[in-house]
Amino acid sequence: METIKHRYSKQRETILQVVRSTVEHPTVDWIYTETRKDIPNISLGTIYRNLSQLVASGQLLKLKDEAMVRYDGNTGHHDHFRCFRCGKWFDVQILDQKSIEAFNQKHQFEIRSVNLELEGVCEDCLKT
Ligand SMILES: [Zn+2]
Ligand SMILES: [Zn+2]
Repeated sequence: METIKHRYSKQRETILQVVRSTVEHPTVDWIYTETRKDIPNISLGTIYRNLSQLVASGQLLKLKDEAMVRYDGNTGHHDHFRCFRCGKWFDVQILDQKSIEAFNQKHQFEIRSVNLELEGVCEDCLKT
């Protein structure tokens, strides 16, 4: 017999997998559409509730720009590049350990965390 608790954790697991299946930092609408392929009767409210629990437990990151909220399945350290034209977010790494150490030495600082948001035009949009 399937317990209610079991059903809830299955929903959460499915949503987590959906977000982790893409590098595109999806919006709630996208996550909703994709999750319904597996769980056709899931409600938008359930999606929102599970997303906030996944963010609270550190399994997903929540990103915001002026237009919308996006979710990120990559919780390791990385920076973001956002495209003006298509609005997509890309994972990038601007500072490597070596340049952080060089910066610290030069300025007598100690960088403890880096969280850069870069903006520009992505490869695909540059072609069109
Ligand atoms: Zn673009
Ligand atoms: Zn990211």
